[in-house]
Amino acid sequence: MKKVYIETMGCQMNKSDTERMLGMLSYLGYEEVKQAEKADLLMVNTCSIRQLSEDKAFSQLGVWGKWKQDGKNIKIGICGCVAQQKAQTIFKRAPYVDFVLGTHKIYALPEIIKKVNNGEKVCECSETNLTEDNLSKNYDIKRVKGVNAWIPITEGCNNFCTYCIVPYTRGRERSRLPEVILKEAKDALDAGFKEITLLGQNVDSYGKDFPTKQPEKPELANYRLAQLLRDLNSIDGKFRIRFVTSYPTDITDELIKTVVELDKVCEYFHIPMQSGSSEVLKAMNRRYDRETYAKIVKKVRDMVPDVTITSDFIAGFPGETEEQFEETLSAIDEFELDYSNLASYSPREKTVAARWVDKFIPEDVKDERFQRLNKKVQENCLKSNKKYVGRTMEVLIENFYEHKGQMINTGKTRNFKTVHIPFDKDLTGEFVNVKISGTKTWYLQGEIL
Ligand code: SF4
Repeated sequence: MKKVYIETMGCQMNKSDTERMLGMLSYLGYEEVKQAEKADLLMVNTCSIRQLSEDKAFSQLGVWGKWKQDGKNIKIGICGCVAQQKAQTIFKRAPYVDFVLGTHKIYALPEIIKKVNNGEKVCECSETNLTEDNLSKNYDIKRVKGVNAWIPITEGCNNFCTYCIVPYTRGRERSRLPEVILKEAKDALDAGFKEITLLGQNVDSYGKDFPTKQPEKPELANYRLAQLLRDLNSIDGKFRIRFVTSYPTDITDELIKTVVELDKVCEYFHIPMQSGSSEVLKAMNRRYDRETYAKIVKKVRDMVPDVTITSDFIAGFPGETEEQFEETLSAIDEFELDYSNLASYSPREKTVAARWVDKFIPEDVKDERFQRLNKKVQENCLKSNKKYVGRTMEVLIENFYEHKGQMINTGKTRNFKTVHIPFDKDLTGEFVNVKISGTKTWYLQGEIL
């Protein structure tokens, strides 16, 4: 049996693509291995959100290229966002690469592998405004073992935030058909997964493209995320449903009501704000200001009891002043954001903000702002966790391991809080009621009832 090794970088969307590619490769007789040295086919699934990950990908390819030059009989492929963006030029920079596969047509992989095994070099980076739903039905997905199954519902993005490379690497927004998503969810649940997380750059705009792209299916004209959640919720069995990422102004009242109504949909919203300053938000081409974001967060909090709201922020966007940065610090406090992912601004080729070189913030200032943001996120995470001490919460156990001689189960509450529970038996995959006995910065401590 042939062996494949895939190094996956970047976001959850890439991880999901890797699971799909492994599914296709198993049809071709490939078995996944965890050590690159043992593989006949080596692939790197790349991320271009930051320069660092791009550099890491080429350095990985360089190591494998050396093995090939030394006589090892291997094939090397690059896929993901860097592949989509750089296409043919990759062969010049890394001539030992056998194929380049972009993000739009990953279901071309089986054909590509056949050609590559016949000695051809292949580049498939053409764009499409359609999904690959018809092709995806032909293959199983080789999901990473665990309790949560990720299911992409949209690909690409139409927003063109000035710092973001996604519209250039993943293309315009495309919604996958509900029947395909529902089938993938049922398959995952049948295989033992206990949680479904719907994935997309902007899940709230799911279905908006159906009237133009699926005119032959009039029943989909008004099919949106809320309806998809209802259909998923009606699948039998005990499991949870989550969805990420929400664009603030695309969150509708209907969606919030649906989250409250449906028993399997969890009380969790990830709503990236990116900056607390309205001027910076404008420069970022985000379609809301601080006040609008405040109203949306308030509405979600008022309507969804115990909701956790997480966010993303960028430190040191071009032109960001100290005062504007302080507005971000105050936003995290004012909107009581439970947790936030942070990034220092990194200019990406093709994006609008990358041209504002004269406004770039020096690295040391960006680093210092990042550290202050990180401190603020920690304070707020602890503050948010304290609200739950003394409560009883349902936890879905995700992991079991030994820590300093003690066996620990860890899992998540419905509202996405991590809980550590000392307990000798492995409860992975089970829903347990837990008394929250204490808290650390990043997690709650609990006891099984
Ligand atoms: S909405 Fe998100 S994915 Fe789309 S361009 Fe903006 S930051 Fe990028």
